[in-house]
Amino acid sequence: MSGSDHFQDFNSLYGYITTEKDLPSKQKPGNKKEHAPNGILVLSKVRDFIRCIYCGKLRCLFSQKMLKEDEQLSIQLAFENYSYICGSPIFLEDHSLYNILFVRINQTCHDHIEQIYYSCKIQHLSICYFCGESDELVEPDEKSKSEWQTIYPLCSSCQNKGLRWYTKGKMYTKKRKTT
Ligand SMILES: [Zn+2]
Ligand SMILES: [Zn+2]
Repeated sequence: MSGSDHFQDFNSLYGYITTEKDLPSKQKPGNKKEHAPNGILVLSKVRDFIRCIYCGKLRCLFSQKMLKEDEQLSIQLAFENYSYICGSPIFLEDHSLYNILFVRINQTCHDHIEQIYYSCKIQHLSICYFCGESDELVEPDEKSKSEWQTIYPLCSSCQNKGLRWYTKGKMYTKKRKTT
């Protein structure tokens, strides 16, 4: 499953954009107030994902409690008719799940996949850290694997663009705290 049929070309997408500010390219990160209450946008509260129709990346959905069956159904129904774009809310204010299920507002299509996506407990595909593609992931070399605790997936087309594996937690050269 490539998920590429979720993508729409820019012209058909354009209909959803109401102001220039909504254009993914015009959004500036870090200047929007998160709708989610404090302590919700964390690893243990990831419940599901939603795919951006513009960049194709999966974004994490969070809720305080596990979702009930009827809530899951309601979400499915809502998303069937909704074209999500990074940085937008997932529900309108009058939706019953408006204060239950959240997405990070402070992110744009330029942002990589959220790191908690890869460590969350629910089932998730291995997707490229930079573009969200699940096909043609490149296996990191043994040296990198022995040096880093976490190596985020990289696809061949991002590699061809000159990107390298994004890594975290160098294994044996622990830096001393300088502060
Ligand atoms: Zn996006
Ligand atoms: Zn990629």
